[in-house]
Amino acid sequence: MASIKFELESKFGSMYGAEEQQAMLEVLAKNAPTSGDACIQFENDFAAYCGVKYARACSNGTAALFLSLVGLGIKPGDRVLTTPLTWIATAAAGATLGAEVDFVDVDPVTYNMDPEQLAKKITPNTRAVLPVHLYGQCCDMDAILALAKQHGFAVVEDACHAVGAEYRGRKAGSMGATGCFSFHEQKNMSTLGEGGIITTDDADLFERIALYRSHCTRVYGKSTKYCSLDEAKLPMGKRFWWQDFDDCGYNFRMTDIQAAVGSAQLKKLDALNQKRIEICAHISERLQGVPGLTLPAVLPGRKHVFHLYPLQIDPGVFGMNKEDFVYAMREERGIRIGTHYIPLHWTTAFQKRGFRKGQFPVADRLADRLVTLPIHPRLTPEGVDYLVDSICAFARH
Ligand SMILES: *Cc1c(COP(=O)(O)O)cnc(C)c1O
Repeated sequence: MASIKFELESKFGSMYGAEEQQAMLEVLAKNAPTSGDACIQFENDFAAYCGVKYARACSNGTAALFLSLVGLGIKPGDRVLTTPLTWIATAAAGATLGAEVDFVDVDPVTYNMDPEQLAKKITPNTRAVLPVHLYGQCCDMDAILALAKQHGFAVVEDACHAVGAEYRGRKAGSMGATGCFSFHEQKNMSTLGEGGIITTDDADLFERIALYRSHCTRVYGKSTKYCSLDEAKLPMGKRFWWQDFDDCGYNFRMTDIQAAVGSAQLKKLDALNQKRIEICAHISERLQGVPGLTLPAVLPGRKHVFHLYPLQIDPGVFGMNKEDFVYAMREERGIRIGTHYIPLHWTTAFQKRGFRKGQFPVADRLADRLVTLPIHPRLTPEGVDYLVDSICAFARH
């Protein structure tokens, strides 16, 4: 029982094994550099996995989103749209650059940005839209990309929940101008607790992102072309060279030890995601027909990688409201139920920016009903049964 409770209290997203240990030791033996060969390897591995031309590793998902907008040249006054149902990082990326951030209400079935609502929010100033593949299921990308083409804004995919997810045969993060991933400890794969990566097919955008990630450093060499330091393979001391800075940038680099773990994690990702998919299929099978619960819907053409398992509670029918359910599961069963996410327009950060509760009716209604079950690949069949039995025990019979 103690170990079952541990599984359901823990917030760990991925699992490490001997491969990650080995990879770390190898990098340690090479003095554990930052942004070295292991990073280049991981970027190549990740780009190939997603089916894109370029990937650049960075310090976390927040940096990936921010750098995408920096690379796109988002500036004060530009309009940036996202969903209110997301982690604050998605909206903060635009807000911290001084952009005008607005929200688009969500689809009541998938909880993702509703393209019909998006169409109503586009103005000539709209420069970027950040759809979030919430809980691991891709947004309606055909509709969003069609609007992008029509109105000329860039799509930045927040794929932080969706590494390995697919939309009509395309990988999450391969459809927009960029894809942004997080390797935080709770995500489907991790690089030692923190990490991120940006994917893109656009060479110019990639170069800008790569530059701003690392102080906009370029290197002039006598016989080298003017290039970013990351790409420079200078035999130090043999050539005259000096360092120039195109602009003032940031340090959002990843270390090699993280990247080496990332490459090992990536090899296991499909198997880890498959485990999540199976666990969630089992949960859905067992919760089917429990009155007052709405189970997650997986739309055709989607591979949903179940970063989390969203469950909607109708208090009148289920017999308990969201707050009481979350409290009872914790106090009586030792299970941590998530409340991802309190809509961003309810937060102080966005109330300060003029938003009010009730502005996005679908998200507002979901906020009162949506909970998430703790999903990770180390859940045992006993743990899953205990989770489901506990939910059923609270349902009105
Ligand atoms: C985790 C997450 C982020 C931010 O990633 P960090 O690595 O924690 O900075 C952004 N968006 C969403 C949807 C996330 O879940």
